[in-house]
Amino acid sequence: MSSAAYDDNNIFAKILRGEIPSHRVYEDEHTVAFMDVMPQAPGHVLVVPKAASRNILDANPATISHAITVVQKIANAVKDAFDADGVLVIQFNEPAAGQTVFHLHFHVIPRHDGIPLKPHSGKMEDGDVLAANAEKIKGELGS
Ligand code: 5GP
Repeated sequence: MSSAAYDDNNIFAKILRGEIPSHRVYEDEHTVAFMDVMPQAPGHVLVVPKAASRNILDANPATISHAITVVQKIANAVKDAFDADGVLVIQFNEPAAGQTVFHLHFHVIPRHDGIPLKPHSGKMEDGDVLAANAEKIKGELGS
């Protein structure tokens, strides 16, 4: 494995341990999904496996397999919750590819025709807006 070692002090590991708050929309035995604090569009969700891996390069294939089924579930939920025209799924590996938090995660972002994507890791969203958007998604998930 050529990438750096996993560091369990990364921000998503702290969120998974409950040391830092997040607006959760979904949780199962292997995966958590919560709102991105610097959304690239309203309804931007991060799907995060509970198992420790830095990114897709060092993850257990079973972890990836399960996570992608959750990505599909969340993609349908955000599409319906935000009446989106499409859904963007992004996943970055290592700084050269744009990764900034080194615990495997998938971005799920509702897209609307003609509305440009905001910058990656751009502006912090208001907590009330994130909470309201999380409720909309949870409504679609029935959770
Ligand atoms: P990456 O570049 O690693 O794929 O993206 C990390 C994502 O995590 C970014 O979109 C950024 O906005 C988001 N993020 C960074 N810190 C936090 C945080 O403390 N809480 C949440 N919910 N998202 C975060």
